[in-house]
Amino acid sequence: MTFPILVYGTPSLKKPSEPVGENFPELAQLVDDMFETMYASDGVGLAAPQIGRNIRLVVLDASAAAEGDQKLKDCKRVLINPEIYETSDDEVLMNEGCLSVPGIHEDVYRPEWVRVRYLDEQMTPHDELLEGFAARIAQHEIDHLEGTLFVERLSALRKTLLQGKLSSMSKGKYKADYKTRQNR
Ligand SMILES: [Zn+2]
Repeated sequence: MTFPILVYGTPSLKKPSEPVGENFPELAQLVDDMFETMYASDGVGLAAPQIGRNIRLVVLDASAAAEGDQKLKDCKRVLINPEIYETSDDEVLMNEGCLSVPGIHEDVYRPEWVRVRYLDEQMTPHDELLEGFAARIAQHEIDHLEGTLFVERLSALRKTLLQGKLSSMSKGKYKADYKTRQNR
């Protein structure tokens, strides 16, 4: 099943999420439903808080960009309790959007690569270097677990320019071609 995606202005999107405990009930089903929701809305990543679950769970699939980067071919991941413990000094600019902030796309600076520890859906630990597009998605999604949206990472000027749009969005004025929900 697919979930509606929570939109900007919903207070729980700004809340830090709780770790996923061992024996979390129906984890496999939740992971399946998150992938289904993500694909149905043409996303490349989805964090559990975006569907109203404030837990540290992310799904991502970077393979859509595999044409430009063969390394991304099998880059489909479930990140449970992810922790970025090292990042490149170099930051790169990349255009980002967010299913929770429909209609807004902006360039954001972030480290080019990250080292991340996480558990997969079998609760097996991993320690992985993610680069390029995969690193970008992981950082964006892990931000969601802290209650941070990408628009908060923009320059003061860009934020000021977007203020009107965001304030309308938080009042329910937005368009999305996937299922959304907003609590105010
Ligand atoms: Zn997002």
